[in-house]
Amino acid sequence: MTKSQAKSFRNILEANLIELGGRALRRDAIAVETAADDLDRTLRASERDLAVHTLEAASVGIRAIRAALQRMDDGTFGICLECDDEISLKRLTALPAASLCIECQEAADSGREARPRRMALPMAA
Ligand SMILES: [Zn+2]
Repeated sequence: MTKSQAKSFRNILEANLIELGGRALRRDAIAVETAADDLDRTLRASERDLAVHTLEAASVGIRAIRAALQRMDDGTFGICLECDDEISLKRLTALPAASLCIECQEAADSGREARPRRMALPMAA
């Protein structure tokens, strides 16, 4: 990965972080309200469930992005956490916060063993 590629991934990650952070801040939608009647209560409950779901998804995303930015600082961005192989640019373009290569991700999703770890690559300066 070139420096300019790394920089553009950083820009994308930082923009995503700001966007998700804004979403996570709207916690007031989760506030429990007392509603006048049952239908109103049901509607509010499902709005609340949706808000909780959005908040959870946002915090998972925020954690993944922070970890990716940390790996960028460490010089290990784009390296699979499981097998130390390079994550393809195509995959990173689709999912800049990806921490696993496609093979390890598929293995994790299907519950199979991850690929055997290779010797650690010397860190690119
Ligand atoms: Zn891998």
